[in-house]
Amino acid sequence: MVSKDPVRVEFLGGLGEIGRNAALISQGGDALLIDFGVMFPKADMPGVDLVLPDFRAISEREIRLAGVVLTHGHEDHIGGLPYLLREAPAPVYGSRLTIELVSARLKEHKLLAESELVVVEDYDTVSVGPFQVEFIPVTHSVPDAMSVAVYTSQGVIFHTGDFKIDSAPVDHRQMGLSRLAVLGRERGIRLLLSDSTNAEEGGYTASESSLFPSLAEIFYSSPGQRIVIACFASHLHRILQITRIAELVGRKVVFMGRSLKRNVSLGVDLGIIPMRVLDESVEVERIGSFDPEEVCVIATGSQGEQAAVLHTLAFQPDRFFKIGEKDMVIFSSDVIPGNESAVNRLINQFARLGVRSIYPPMKTVHASGHAKREELATVLSLASPEFFVPVHGEYRQMSAHAELARKLGVVSGEVLVCQDGDEIVLSGAGAERRPAGYGEYLYVDGVVGDVSRGLLRDRRVLSEDGVVVVAVTVDSAGVLQGAPEMLSIGWVHDEREEELLDEAGTLVTKLFEGLSQPLGQEEIREELKRRVGRFVRERTKRRPMIVSLITEV
Ligand SMILES: [Zn+2]
Ligand SMILES: [Zn+2]
Repeated sequence: MVSKDPVRVEFLGGLGEIGRNAALISQGGDALLIDFGVMFPKADMPGVDLVLPDFRAISEREIRLAGVVLTHGHEDHIGGLPYLLREAPAPVYGSRLTIELVSARLKEHKLLAESELVVVEDYDTVSVGPFQVEFIPVTHSVPDAMSVAVYTSQGVIFHTGDFKIDSAPVDHRQMGLSRLAVLGRERGIRLLLSDSTNAEEGGYTASESSLFPSLAEIFYSSPGQRIVIACFASHLHRILQITRIAELVGRKVVFMGRSLKRNVSLGVDLGIIPMRVLDESVEVERIGSFDPEEVCVIATGSQGEQAAVLHTLAFQPDRFFKIGEKDMVIFSSDVIPGNESAVNRLINQFARLGVRSIYPPMKTVHASGHAKREELATVLSLASPEFFVPVHGEYRQMSAHAELARKLGVVSGEVLVCQDGDEIVLSGAGAERRPAGYGEYLYVDGVVGDVSRGLLRDRRVLSEDGVVVVAVTVDSAGVLQGAPEMLSIGWVHDEREEELLDEAGTLVTKLFEGLSQPLGQEEIREELKRRVGRFVRERTKRRPMIVSLITEV
């Protein structure tokens, strides 16, 4: 019997930030997830490796996770899976390439053997719990990306995934706009969820294939120069185009970077990149036997990541080959918000070495993978949904997307701007937005565990104002024995440090002398923290962490 229960759509991440995308769709106690990605930590999250969607929505409640449906293989959509599947094992559905990229992740986490991975083709429909899910192709900056239509007893929920409308895709795999139109017109879409990343940008995003002539232009007009070009390791169509241009102008390709090499072999296995490209590529060790103009290096690290190739080339310029005036570096990517200063450092360092850098918008060396306003308008019109929620973006981008939808007048019901932790409840009565309580940042620190807010606050204090340690020895009656020992790290730099610590030590001694009756350990700790804290605040205008060590003899 078809359930008439309401269908809930909960946003566990990705609404209000770029990263950690995850939407939980449930009815009764049965649920599916669309994507489960990561966000890379921001500057105010010291020591954090990754940030996950709030999967306590599943682990803390009586939810049966029937499956995870993946739109595409980017980290902000698949990167959290190892952490999720350990808590809530469930089958994972995605296109061939997406599943291969997931396999690599799960293998690193030693979870591949016990995971159930299901490959779907374009326009396949699968049953996941009480729902049917149809996979509809979209064009994006990684091959084989999908949108998903989730068929529920409360109507069709259409999630675009990340997309742009590329009218001339490199692999000729067209976005399934006709299917979207049929669903919108005949069946009716109850709720549309659509990518907001570029909602503030007018016009259309350029086709990936339009990059070919502009990149080729640079290759042709750089005689005598070695070209190093950096892009995302998963952007196999970009890599394919670069190898085609290199072949055309007679340059040997050198692949550098572990993830890049792995993805290129994967691309060859899946028929995305011809075998010949790999066969004719050269290992970096042999680069010295070619003139600069005979070589094109394709590398990772366009975001300034410290562990990646570009960073090594810049800061250890003799490590692989002598990089200098005969080299040119092309950043074939946009800077992801938050990475600006790392990329800036790289470009400065290359300039010091005499290396010329080319990056957007200097020349057309990158095309975004996300739809701009005209494309978003097209999707909104074709879908003509009853309800619309902009997803995948910072709040300003989602607001711009909502405004566009209202202006177009194609949403028959309501446009609802949500944020992390909100849910939409679809029922016969309509759609209601309300807070559901699961939108917190879950921090991953090293390989295990998550980081509490308190711990992060401590790290921020330590990194900004340092620490002052007070060590005292007391007897069993709580009477101070000897002089207190004081130590500080990262608090004040100069000769004042010793002086101030001496003064604080005297203050502590006086504190004990002034007591009318001895204090217990906890009370001593509190008093030390309070008095020493006030002293350092008044004298240095800083708020270091105060740590007290009490030894009882
Ligand atoms: Zn993406
Ligand atoms: Zn994304």
